[in-house]
Amino acid sequence: MKNSGIVTGTVPPIDPTGRIHLLFCVGDCADARTVVGTWAAQALAAGRVATVVPAATAARVTQFVQQARAGSRVLIAGPRREAMLAAAAARAAGVLPCETTTYVTATEGVSLFCPHCGRTGDVEAEPGAVVACGSCGLHLEIRPHLSGHHGTYLGAVACPSPGKETP
Ligand SMILES: [Zn+2]
Repeated sequence: MKNSGIVTGTVPPIDPTGRIHLLFCVGDCADARTVVGTWAAQALAAGRVATVVPAATAARVTQFVQQARAGSRVLIAGPRREAMLAAAAARAAGVLPCETTTYVTATEGVSLFCPHCGRTGDVEAEPGAVVACGSCGLHLEIRPHLSGHHGTYLGAVACPSPGKETP
């Protein structure tokens, strides 16, 4: 997976070939609401159908995507953690990666999977940083690769002999 469909910075335009645009605002974020409003205006200006789902949850994303017809595009805007979970839900519900755009508004905090204890936790760090697993305490390096399937980053064991050290 070269293109994960995760976008930051400049707001990407909608795909004008899509007939129906499902616009999800996640994470109760003002920036996300602005982005979704921009997309909705673009869709309407292009004569397309836009369905705006404010304050969407992963469950709502699943629900809408499952009811969506062919030709639909899924656009998600929100803080990274919530946006990634929503994107993973859309993927699991059957939407193709090329039909999904995920715009990340805030970059603090990621969802990190620990291969040691198998738990997923939220950490306030960026890929490349070394953090302690919230469950088992093992030091993990956040790999830059995003698992689009699970919406998490994978942690790699950074310290071969974890102790009970306290930072
Ligand atoms: Zn762990």
